[in-house]
Amino acid sequence: MIPFNVPPYCGREDEYVLQAIHSHKISGDGTFTKKCHAWLEERTGAARALLTTSGSHALDMAALLCRLEPGDEVIMPSYTFSSTANAFVLAGAVPVFVDIRPDTMNIDEHLIEAAITPRTKVICVMHYAGVGCEMDTVMDIARRHGLKVVEDAAQGVMASYKGRALGSIGDYGCFSFHESKNYSMGEGGALLLRADDPRAEIIREKGTDRARFLRGQVDKYTWEDLGSSYLPSELNAAYLYGQLEMAEQINAARLHCWALYKELLTPLAEAGRIELPFIPEGCVHNAHMFYIKAKDLDERTALIAWLKEHGVSSVFHYVPLHSAAAGRRFGRFHGEDRYTTRESGRLLRLPMYYGLTDGDVETAARTVAAFYGEGSAVR
Ligand SMILES: *Cc1c(COP(=O)(O)O)cnc(C)c1O
Repeated sequence: MIPFNVPPYCGREDEYVLQAIHSHKISGDGTFTKKCHAWLEERTGAARALLTTSGSHALDMAALLCRLEPGDEVIMPSYTFSSTANAFVLAGAVPVFVDIRPDTMNIDEHLIEAAITPRTKVICVMHYAGVGCEMDTVMDIARRHGLKVVEDAAQGVMASYKGRALGSIGDYGCFSFHESKNYSMGEGGALLLRADDPRAEIIREKGTDRARFLRGQVDKYTWEDLGSSYLPSELNAAYLYGQLEMAEQINAARLHCWALYKELLTPLAEAGRIELPFIPEGCVHNAHMFYIKAKDLDERTALIAWLKEHGVSSVFHYVPLHSAAAGRRFGRFHGEDRYTTRESGRLLRLPMYYGLTDGDVETAARTVAAFYGEGSAVR
């Protein structure tokens, strides 16, 4: 069976984790955390990067930084992970879902402005599959209406939009280093700040100015603001650093598999049997996933079963938040759901991970083609 995902492992993670153990400093913000921060700031151009205990926690921190009040509204897509919405609901706000673009599965930037009300405070975009949203338009709307922009770039590490790293364009960007992502620390994430804000490290350190204290800038630390414990252990940071050092290699290997899938499946797409992902001009993606779209939900269900029967794992993705129990309770959909439900029901993700071989990609692509009775359509 070709697995759907195998968490990345490059080789030096063990060495670094052992180093962290032997340093007798395994709580947060030690040497490896600092190395990860420096790597993230250099790679993304963000003014500040802070490792967090998860991508979800990075989103929670971003929501707290937005200073929301009960009843404030946050515009976001419905086709996203629960964490995107949870962060803002926990901060007292109401998610207002708008439709996606069928080509990228990202929020439709042309529908955002009509969803703005006097209560709107934030636009939260999510870069699906590491393919950038139309950020020039989003930032322009935000500027004209005085809104904050949060980027859920959980899937977007090493990807960019018009030369700028995903996560570094809005006010706050959130990365995930969960084991299902391109780079992993088991559970973990990072918050990126376009402009440094001392409140960020206070929120991350239980609402205290402990970070300032540790730098010798104050002689005791006290409770200053809202917060929680969002900093990961050095053990996790050491593991992550082993992967960030290999980021170019991991990224290149994933992009190679992605391009091979694309090449092998193009005949099927040209025959009108499936649809392939679209990468807009100006977007450099990171091969976070390779998905195809079947005709409809029924065909997708049959295809997933067929692939499983023939040794290939494949999975569908998000159930739109507005149709889920919590989404109905906490949020509302603005405008028409033309694509969110329909397109999410057709999408299927094929195996994609660091270490996937050309042979695996060929097998997966050939098995998809065989389902459509087009075995010879693959190269
Ligand atoms: C993975 C993911 C998250 C959550 O990240 P965790 O590190 O698992 O908390 C949030 N949003 C999106 C879009 C994701 O893909």
